Amino acid sequence: MKVGLQTQILPAGEAAVAAAARILAAGGLVAFPTETVYGLGADATNAAAIASLYQAKGRPAFNPLIAHVGDLAAARRIARFDAAALALAAAFWPGPLTLVLPKAPGCAVADLMTAGLETIAVRIPAHPVARDILRAFGGPVAAPSANLSGHVSPTTAAHVASDLSGRIDLIVDGGAVAVGVESTIVGCFDQPMLLRPGGLPRAEIERVLGRALLAPPDDADSDSEQPLAPGMLASHYAPRARVRLDAVSLEPGEALLAFGSDAMAGIDAAAAVMNLSPRGDIDEAAANLFGHLRALDSKGVGTIAVMPVPEQGLGEAINDRLRRAAVGRP
Ligand code: AMP
Ligand code: MG
Repeated sequence: MKVGLQTQILPAGEAAVAAAARILAAGGLVAFPTETVYGLGADATNAAAIASLYQAKGRPAFNPLIAHVGDLAAARRIARFDAAALALAAAFWPGPLTLVLPKAPGCAVADLMTAGLETIAVRIPAHPVARDILRAFGGPVAAPSANLSGHVSPTTAAHVASDLSGRIDLIVDGGAVAVGVESTIVGCFDQPMLLRPGGLPRAEIERVLGRALLAPPDDADSDSEQPLAPGMLASHYAPRARVRLDAVSLEPGEALLAFGSDAMAGIDAAAAVMNLSPRGDIDEAAANLFGHLRALDSKGVGTIAVMPVPEQGLGEAINDRLRRAAVGRP
């Protein structure tokens, strides 16, 4: 829980960039300007840091975040680029274009950052302060807008401070940024698809691709008749196994996703057991959620039983995702 932190505000410059890199490496939270809006950055490979980022924003749900990187080599360490993706990166990066791509093998980004998906959203921002921080830190940085959930995106350091003072470690003040049109998001699967209109116009993207972008499915959660990359467009991770919520005892052969230290009847016959947080820490549970679900699912069990998780703090977001997982593959 980050609430109660002393939030430093530093003018953009060498000292601020060095402090930002140091804080990110230590798992802290740093707000910095991008060319769209101020972003709230955390080390994308550090699940605990991502959990505290959601906590600081007061997010009621875990949405997949965008990994910000400093150059194409860094992007290729976390995502797989096909020819179309490389053409778009060459034409528009750095800039307000986010590409959703398959994760690269060995991608070090935390499951919580991609909300458990097999795909990852990546962008190289154009703002010089953002780029300096990314270069100094050297790894991917998750950076949603630096505001409390439900508030408008911040375009000045003062906006950030009024929402997040006491909840984050550092605000790098780079002055006012261009008023917040968010990045355009393109999914590069079998055929490139416009997932969210934004700062980069569709026509420019289509000119580089030499063809029209597909429209997003009406409901990205529904499986409709999408022939493209089944499962990859799903905005929610769903395990193959059935998910049984609020389990108070275990049936033979079930896997258990536990929380806390309570004993459970039937646990001796469990196919596998993983604990989100043996000491009952909700932020630790958030950090472990998708990784643990994935690990249990990989055992090929029919059912994953899940112990109740309290609704407080990030518990609301955890329970939101567990309920979606229980509904099953979209
Ligand atoms: P932003 O609000 O600018 O931080 O962008 C975050 C948005 O990017 C999410 O709400 C998603 O709509 C989108 N996004 C991130 N990762 C993915 C992904 N793997 N697949 C589809 N959309 C994604
Ligand atoms: Mg936002």
